[in-house]
Order: sequence, then structure tokens, then C-alpha cells
Amino acid sequence: MHRRAKRSKETPEAKLRRGKQVRVTFEKLAQDGHARTGVLRTPRGEVRTPAFMPVGTAATVKAMLPESVRETGADILLGNTYHLMLRPTAERIARLGGLHKFMNWERPILTDSGGFQVMSLAGLRKLDEEGVTFKSHIDGSKHALTPERSMEIQALLGSDIVMCFDECPALPAEDPEVARAMRLSMRWAERSKAAFGDRPGHALFGIMQGGVTQELREESAKALVEIGFDGYAIGGLAVGEGQEAMFGVLDYATGYLPQDRPRYLMGVGKPDDIVGAVKRGVDMMDCVLPSRSGRTGQAFTRAGVVNIKNARHQDDPRPLDETCGCPACRNYSRAYLHHVFRSQEIISSMLLTWHNLRYYQEIMAGMRGAIADGRFAEWEAAFHAGRADGDIPPL
Ligand SMILES: [Zn+2]
Repeated sequence: MHRRAKRSKETPEAKLRRGKQVRVTFEKLAQDGHARTGVLRTPRGEVRTPAFMPVGTAATVKAMLPESVRETGADILLGNTYHLMLRPTAERIARLGGLHKFMNWERPILTDSGGFQVMSLAGLRKLDEEGVTFKSHIDGSKHALTPERSMEIQALLGSDIVMCFDECPALPAEDPEVARAMRLSMRWAERSKAAFGDRPGHALFGIMQGGVTQELREESAKALVEIGFDGYAIGGLAVGEGQEAMFGVLDYATGYLPQDRPRYLMGVGKPDDIVGAVKRGVDMMDCVLPSRSGRTGQAFTRAGVVNIKNARHQDDPRPLDETCGCPACRNYSRAYLHHVFRSQEIISSMLLTWHNLRYYQEIMAGMRGAIADGRFAEWEAAFHAGRADGDIPPL
């Protein structure tokens, strides 16, 4: 009793100092040009930004143990509402203690709303003002997702950062269609906020839509800021518009968002997409690319993409990247990585995924340090120069 009474007198700041974060907060530590570095504090730990979030679609980052994902330098993972609601279901995960416990990852988790994947994966979907009804891609069973149901599922999962339910149209699309989807998403954002309610320790992010049309992006940002969110995502990019168009949107889109809130670019991307996004003021990103490519024999390195399946590696005793500290580079040769990929051994996916996730986290750490030191431009020049040099010549 005495102990409890004493604790309740603690100010939020004191709890913070003790490591007892009670709210999700964002602190910008430095800015260089438009690039920012900071820290997102949650009760489950800090997320250093710019941050890359590995994707743990079905409550696992494929081919990786959670402790290995942490070793690569990840502070936060992304989970997919669409996949988890279908299998094993959010209710089952809640009964088993929540997603963190279920998948053995006690650090922060961001979950998407299911909106994007329901549009791209589900069959026979029907969309109206209320939400989306669709058939599971697993067994054809019927399901519904609404802003309210998406908030409920993400709460059952115990997600630290919850995303608003939105509609993301595939590009290219005509302006009236992009505008219709954006305005529906803004009405859904309002419903998401109401359904989310007041949940200390958890954050809700709004999602900007509007395709590649500046007026629509501005209208969307204003609507979201009016509603008020803990963070703001830029959605509807990396859906077929190309890097130049994406950077074109980011050039103005981040300027419509509050300086003191984190900005999350959804579903991006390749290493040069990530660097270009951070340069334009983005703080958080996620993408399946490093893990998916790890399973298809593609390694991302300082010198660009290396295809380990290529015959040039079969007698090569050198590591994939001699400067990399990951197990694939420390303990194995290119010849071995080539062999296990060609033999379809499970260790191939494990090693290349580890390497790729480590490389992505090294990019993020490099950018954080460069922004803090006010030398982002030099860091970026070195990043592009390394890629221009290309892979080491064959032996
Ligand atoms: Zn490596």
C-alpha cells in the first residue's frame, strides 16, 4: 500500500526518468536541411528516428528470431492487421496475452489498419461508406473491416502505434477517384480517432492520402491536423508511381505536417528511397524488401544489390561485405551463401535476411549520426558514391 501511494505521486517526468514512460511522445533532437533525428518514447521503449521498421506480417519477421531482429538494431516492428485478424485472429492473440508476448518481442510494435492489404490481397471486396467486406485469401470466409473494427483489432493485439483505417487507391488513378478515396479516408480518420478513444501509452497515427496531386495532399493534411493525431503517416505512395513522383510528393507533403510529430512513410522502400525520404523530412519507414529479398537471393550492400545466385560467386571465398558485422558476412563466404541458396537450404534465407536487415539499420544509424552532426549532405554523397562504384570485381 505504502509503495503504491508513493508511486502515484510521481510526476510523468519522474516516471520518464525512471524509464516508466506513460505517454507516447516525440522529441526532435536535431535537424539538418529537412532531415530530422529524434526519439519516439513509448512505455515499451524508445524508437530512434529516422527508424526503419522490419515487417513481421504473421507475427514473425520471416526467417528471423526476434532477438536476432533486435541485434540488427531494430527498435520497433510492424505487424499486419489483415493477416493477424484472419489467422490466428486478434481475439486469440489477446487471450494469449497480446502480440508482444505471443511473438516474443517486448519492444514497440506498430500495426497497420488492414486497409491497404484488404484492398490489395482480399478477393471479392465491397467498399462503401461504412467500411469494407471481403473474402479471406486463406479460406474464402467472409469478413468486415470498418474504422471501428480496425481500432478494436489493433487494441486486442496490444499495438503501441495504431494506424487509422483508410482506403489507398492504386496509382495511376484519375483525380476524382483519388479525391473520393482521400475524402472517405478523412471521414474514416475521424471515426478511427473516436473509436480509439483515450488510451494512455498508445498512439494513433493519421494517414495522409491524395495520390500525386498537391492540392489533394494539402486538403488531406489539413483535415488530419484538424482532427489531431500523435503522428502522421504519408500513405498512398510506393504504389506504382515511381521514385521521382514519390520524391515530388514528399518535397511538399512533409511541409503540411506538424514539426513536433513523427512522420511515417508507409511501405518504403529500397535503400535509396529511404535516404531520399529522410532527406525530405520523413522519420519512420517500413518495407518487406530487405526480408523478402533475403529469401530470393538478393543482398543489399554499400555497393548496391548483389545477386548471390550469380555463378560468379561459386568459388569466391570472400565475404559478402567485408565491413559488415552480421553473421552472414563474419562467418561465411560468398561461395557458401551461393551454395546454400542454390541448394534451397533454410539457412540461406536466415543469413541473407539478417544481412539485409542489418544493412538497413546501418543506413538508419548512419543517417541519425550524420543529421546530429550537421553533415547529412556529406553522408548522402558517400552513400551514392559507394553504390556508383558497384560490387567488388570477380576474382
Ligand atoms: Zn552482412
